[in-house]
Amino acid sequence: MRAQFLGTAAAEGYPDPFCGCANCRSAQELGGPNLRKRSSLLINGELLIDLGPDVLAAAQMHGISLAQVCYCLQTHEHQDHLHPALFIARSPYCGVHDAPLLHFYSTQGALDLATRDMGHFATLGMDEACARLNLAVYPIEPFQTFAVGPYQVSTVLAAHDPTIVPLLYIIEREGRSLFYATDTGPLPEATWQALRAWGRRLDVVIMDHTLGFGEGSPRHLNGEQFRCEIARLREAGLLADDARIYATHIAHHSNPIHLELVCQAATHGYLVAHDELTITV
Ligand SMILES: [Zn+2]
Ligand SMILES: [Zn+2]
Ligand SMILES: [Zn+2]
Repeated sequence: MRAQFLGTAAAEGYPDPFCGCANCRSAQELGGPNLRKRSSLLINGELLIDLGPDVLAAAQMHGISLAQVCYCLQTHEHQDHLHPALFIARSPYCGVHDAPLLHFYSTQGALDLATRDMGHFATLGMDEACARLNLAVYPIEPFQTFAVGPYQVSTVLAAHDPTIVPLLYIIEREGRSLFYATDTGPLPEATWQALRAWGRRLDVVIMDHTLGFGEGSPRHLNGEQFRCEIARLREAGLLADDARIYATHIAHHSNPIHLELVCQAATHGYLVAHDELTITV
């Protein structure tokens, strides 16, 4: 699998355009990998994780086509991850007549929010809206395994916002596997149970690093919590010997500019994602 990061920032972007802190000023000045859009990942040009608000900007800035996207796995409905207007942007309503049917997988909560935010399409009812938007929706829950085209997908529960059902995804294809694990704090016990039952070895882990050098939290990870979760994955035998670990969902208030963060992470044996980065799983 070929995975490309479309965004690697926390909810406010990095730099946060409204912030004048030293991290934001340095990131703005240095540009390149220091400029982080809100988090999203594209696999093999066809499977998107999170139909986020910066997907459009990422495609334009990095010369990435989303014309072949036919699967979307939605982690949760927070606004930095779900921008329902994009359903309309890829539909005949906006002059797009040859896009493939989009198979959209999300919790019922995220689907409800997406439906409410679809402008006049919201009034049509789900079936009619899906037909006009070239969309097929699949309500899913934590702890399910199902096929998404050629991919095998397993969902687990994140520890993030108790008022919603946030999902993390294991994506497998041809014996290779990737665990996309943002937004989350330390993983819930039910998720550890499910991971142990899944029982294979992850080749790539992409995990929440929102709080970097800041205070830890039950909703997002700081560096210390991040390293604890990775150590626990390793102890449980869930990491391949050559597994690569990437930090993502990086917030300006708790993480230094890219190169500094890369150096810090390297001393602990993990990597830092940046926008446009493509990795082979
Ligand atoms: Zn987020
Ligand atoms: Zn800042
Ligand atoms: Zn969130």
